Amino acid sequence: MKYFIFTYGCQMNKSDSEQIAALLEKRGCRPAPEAARADLVVVNMCSVRQSAVDRILGLIPQLKKLKTQNSKLKTILTGCILAKDKEKFAEKFDFIFNAEDLTNWLKKIKVKIPTKTESKIQSNSQHNSQVYLPIMTGCNNFCSYCVVPYTRGREICFPVEKILREVKNLIKEGYKEIILLGQNVNSYISKFPIRNFQFSNKFQNSNSKTITINFPKLLKMINDIPGDFQIGFFTSHPKDFSDELIEMIVKSEKIKKEIHLPLQSGDNEILKKMNRGYTIENYLKLIEKIRKKISGVEISTDIIVGFPGETEKQFQNTLKICKKVKFKNIYTAQYSSRPGTFAFKMKNDVPQKEKKKRWEKINKQKQI
Ligand code: SF4
Repeated sequence: MKYFIFTYGCQMNKSDSEQIAALLEKRGCRPAPEAARADLVVVNMCSVRQSAVDRILGLIPQLKKLKTQNSKLKTILTGCILAKDKEKFAEKFDFIFNAEDLTNWLKKIKVKIPTKTESKIQSNSQHNSQVYLPIMTGCNNFCSYCVVPYTRGREICFPVEKILREVKNLIKEGYKEIILLGQNVNSYISKFPIRNFQFSNKFQNSNSKTITINFPKLLKMINDIPGDFQIGFFTSHPKDFSDELIEMIVKSEKIKKEIHLPLQSGDNEILKKMNRGYTIENYLKLIEKIRKKISGVEISTDIIVGFPGETEKQFQNTLKICKKVKFKNIYTAQYSSRPGTFAFKMKNDVPQKEKKKRWEKINKQKQI
């Protein structure tokens, strides 16, 4: 059986596609060079912006045509899918399933299942030396513009043992840069049985059979694995970027000194409407602390322009912060209203032309 995967959206989706490919190949499937030569087409979609959903709608006639040419072709939709879109796409695909449900999906398509249980975090990265490793899925933050808590659900952190095992395998396979992924990666927290604990007993809770491993501790455990490799991570939420995490980055020689810290807006009123959980003052203080402690650190960010009600003055506040912080890179998006989110109820009142103008101004800023 040959498969082809269309992937849209963020790094998490790309990583999920790599895992889908890895699991399929373990079951004897091979990649097809193009969708027209596949027996199985997987569409890994993104719902973050309407334009991403429109791309799936645009793909449907092509899939329909492929099905007329190959009656055995099966099509599957996965990724970030809103409940409303699931209904819309139900008749267009043979199967629709959640990104997390890879094993069940493989059972559904009746490909030979190996006897050994598969790890959810296996990867089949196309890169020679860099690999993305999801350590958690979902998000509990409910930023008012974001569909992730609705499409991927609440945060689930993968077990520490699995992550460490997978990191060791990736090092053995020769990967030199392991990027830990999570929608809110720095809120990672998991219990770890003490019997497995060989690293440092200072993490231990008294009289307990388990220890709690938060993100800085997980980084320490990965950093302590012998080998010639580096560790990166994203996406971090500013409100969860603790002093402990900063100290761990400083102390750990394998952690890359690159931090992606989404700001989204430089105006407190807009940040509140976005439900981001921090103020500009908190954010700037954090940047100052990071720069003071982590020498040579590079900081990048995300900005959304044209959020409902964003005035010219509020946009100028964002521009001012971007100039002040001098980010290494800025990933800018024009606000797009998503059904099901809290912001969907707000009036999407910044004209498209104005959003584009603001988007260009931020993009120009990042070239200075
Ligand atoms: S932190 Fe906010 S923007 Fe990021 S995934 Fe969670 S809800 Fe979405």
